[in-house]
Amino acid sequence: MKTITTFGLLAVSLLTFFLSCNKSSSDIQKSKTEPDSKMKIATLSNDSLRKIKVCTALVSESHALDSGKEAFGNSDLFWPEDKRTLYVNFLDGDPIVQQKVMNVAKQWENYCGLKFIFSNSPNPDITISFNEIGSWSYIGKDSKGKIPSMNYGWLNADTPQSEYDRVVLHEFGHAIGLCHEFQSSNNNPIIWDEPVVYQYYMGPPNNWTKEEVDYNLFKRYSSSEYNGTEFDPFSIMQYSLPAEFTKNGYHLSSVYKLSETDKKFIASIYPK
Ligand SMILES: [Zn+2]
Repeated sequence: MKTITTFGLLAVSLLTFFLSCNKSSSDIQKSKTEPDSKMKIATLSNDSLRKIKVCTALVSESHALDSGKEAFGNSDLFWPEDKRTLYVNFLDGDPIVQQKVMNVAKQWENYCGLKFIFSNSPNPDITISFNEIGSWSYIGKDSKGKIPSMNYGWLNADTPQSEYDRVVLHEFGHAIGLCHEFQSSNNNPIIWDEPVVYQYYMGPPNNWTKEEVDYNLFKRYSSSEYNGTEFDPFSIMQYSLPAEFTKNGYHLSSVYKLSETDKKFIASIYPK
């Protein structure tokens, strides 16, 4: 099952259910033969909707969504205190694209005590591919041992820098433990127009099940499930959200840089 997650600053200490951007190894295998099931760019008639690119993730099969809503537990997905250097390996990809990803990812280092070492480490913490569909990442330390743990499905040498900023900062936010901000329950202003959202995501090319829509979009983490800030519309862990998806006209624009709250929050989790 897939699910989206993200961030913002909800650093989910939570759940092992790997939020949205994660997959089990068996799911990864599946994804190679079911290209339509992952997050991709939706084809819509509306320009604003067409721009939506969501990172989805699969829920580990050992954490079935529908078996107990409390099954997520409270496992902390932040990297532990004695782990401040994260080794990142590229599994494939154009060296030019790899360099662009590195340059953007390292922006996080300016605001916290983490360091990313891009190498061919025999024991990497994060592994990156460009070969799967969609862009997604496992959450925090759940990345360890996943091959790949992060994927960029639409970046190439000609992609605008702004798109690198938007996507890479976001996925690395996941990799250091952040979840999707729009699933925060802290003063979350989003009132979903559920029939519209179901119709959109249950149709091609996403073809999600109702359950997947519920989990990836409508589920909100309770305060006991994550460490988070007040809802931050400017978090890099938001997605753009068209007003058509909400009953109250609430919408979110794309974010291309870390918000002040993102910076403060990550510094609180991984102090320098
Ligand atoms: Zn995401």
